[in-house]
Amino acid sequence: MDLLKKRIQSDGQVLNDSLLKVDSFLNQQIDPQLMLKMGEEFAKRFSGESITKILTIESSGIAVSVMAGLILNVPVIFARKKKSVVSNEALYCTTVYSFTKRESNNIIVSKKFLQEEDHVLIIDDFLANGEAATGLASIVEQANAKVTGIGIVIEKSFQPGAQKLLQAGYRVESLARIASFSNGQVNFL
Ligand code: 5GP
Repeated sequence: MDLLKKRIQSDGQVLNDSLLKVDSFLNQQIDPQLMLKMGEEFAKRFSGESITKILTIESSGIAVSVMAGLILNVPVIFARKKKSVVSNEALYCTTVYSFTKRESNNIIVSKKFLQEEDHVLIIDDFLANGEAATGLASIVEQANAKVTGIGIVIEKSFQPGAQKLLQAGYRVESLARIASFSNGQVNFL
């Protein structure tokens, strides 16, 4: 998606050989117009798939997921990283190792939001080692629902996540695919 690639080139900061900072439009300050365009793009790519729900993870996947959910006219669920004190319900839970925080967290979704007949589109902001997406897929599968596809905003294709998800049989659609970082520059596939 050219608009996103241009934005990464102009506003992204390459922190080292594997980490990109995009807090000016995605990870802290959010550009709603860009989120809408990306939501439209995900909706277009998965339009033939009878998606019934979108599942993402707090917090950076939420904005773009809501836009995709608006266009596809389906609810958006986000996995929580901490159990809320108001939650007294049955939960789906799995453990995810965080690439940026370098720690394992339980992620949870209330059982009442996923049903067996659901066709779920998983969306996340980044794909690195595939831990977050695999965890979200595990939650969908615990509910005996179907993972229809995985939509990623920024795929770092030089890391193993995309290959892992494809090998597991998932359809992966990434809006920007990065081949490498060199001298502070982003090289797209
Ligand atoms: P994975 O679970 O695929 O190893 O990593 C994806 C998760 O780690 C995303 O949810 C995202 O929060 C975070 N992440 C991975 N790589 C990057 C990166 O280069 N920049 C930022 N800002 N977050 C990343």
